[in-house]
Amino acid sequence: MTPSYAEAPVSQTLFARASAVTPGGVNSPVRAFGAVGGTPRFMASGSGPYLTDTDGHEYVDLVCSWGPMILGHSHPEVLAAVREAVGRGTSFGTPTAGEVELAEEITARVTPVEKVRLVSSGTEATMSAIRLARGFTGRAKVVKFAGCYHGHVDALLASAGSGAVTFALPDTPGVTGAQAGETLVLPYNDLDAVRAAFAAHPGEIACVITEAVPGNMGVVPPLPGFNQGLKDLCAAGGALLISDEVMTGFRMSRAGWFGVEGVVPDLITFGKVMGGGFPAAAFGGRADVMARLAPEGPVYQAGTLSGNPVATAAGLAQLRLLDDAAYARLDATAAELRGLAGAALTKEGVPHVVSGAGNMFSVFFTDAPVTDFEGAKAQRTDRYTAFFHAMLEQGVYLPPSAFEAWFVSTAHDAQAMERIAAALPTAARAAAEV
Ligand code: PLP
Repeated sequence: MTPSYAEAPVSQTLFARASAVTPGGVNSPVRAFGAVGGTPRFMASGSGPYLTDTDGHEYVDLVCSWGPMILGHSHPEVLAAVREAVGRGTSFGTPTAGEVELAEEITARVTPVEKVRLVSSGTEATMSAIRLARGFTGRAKVVKFAGCYHGHVDALLASAGSGAVTFALPDTPGVTGAQAGETLVLPYNDLDAVRAAFAAHPGEIACVITEAVPGNMGVVPPLPGFNQGLKDLCAAGGALLISDEVMTGFRMSRAGWFGVEGVVPDLITFGKVMGGGFPAAAFGGRADVMARLAPEGPVYQAGTLSGNPVATAAGLAQLRLLDDAAYARLDATAAELRGLAGAALTKEGVPHVVSGAGNMFSVFFTDAPVTDFEGAKAQRTDRYTAFFHAMLEQGVYLPPSAFEAWFVSTAHDAQAMERIAAALPTAARAAAEV
């Protein structure tokens, strides 16, 4: 018999075994329930908008593997493409046709990307883009924004979002002063601070890296004109603008956040959606900048599994299913969910801000507008904890942290939405009682 949602004995046993052999029992910190308490649920399978854990509980999934599962789980056409690719072999260490097709799909969708290099993770994409920017400009300094997360790149872990803020590890041990010393961390949405940084370090800044829409301190959209302002300041200061679209890429529109806002960065990084649930990521942009990359140019970058044939097949199948109708559906689903969550919290008198852009959003348990990391950190995370567990115990899987985006998929249908709507009033009451 399936135990009640509050109990998860099989997950508990697995977590005890995992903790004996893996630090913290997880292979990526955000998967632990460290911020909200309790035992992480070990998932056994996923189908459409649902996940089923090892105890047999079914959840409506609002994490979607932190973004990649934009068509829902086990989409038949993606699975068919994967099966077909696996049948031909899993890795050759040579160029393959699939890599060319995926690169063509990316450059056709995102016009500022004239050339693209495939890698295996978002971290690799941002790390490589930074190296390339430094190699291209001959400069060392990198500007990043507090609360933005660009993967666990040494130079970019200063004041990072995602797990680094969830676990209050803003400046991690193991990153030396030399590695982080060339990183300037500025407040998000503050163009004056960027202007001042360029004035204080003339000829020294290689690049400014920003999340196209930050989603790792909760979702904090760029104020109107912010990204364009970054572009103008970079152009005037001889630096490159790197737009990190690992989360937003191919999620916000066919061309990611670029397709919504139209600001043209010098380099863009991708991950998540483009891998169809497999490890695939990319960085690309101006042809003259990308030409500095080995083997065409001197900036070294490589990967045994880069452009892996199974990952590229999954990514291509997923991207080809993401047409304008799919994006309209994602936006409508997110708008409905934002409305439902906001209404439930308002009804219970819980101070909150539903913050987002396009189909990406999160709920901050504060009533002050959130435009930067300081604002995001000012929220009542204890209220989120109560809300999270109440949703979990009614079969809705939210991110186990107040500092993460909620993700929807095209598979979130009326039935899934009804289950969420039915769970929200109890969760809002739980948040109100804290
Ligand atoms: N950049 C952004 C904006 C991200 O959200 C993430 C991961 O969440 C990364 C980079 C790192 O990607 P990965 O986890 O694939 O290394």
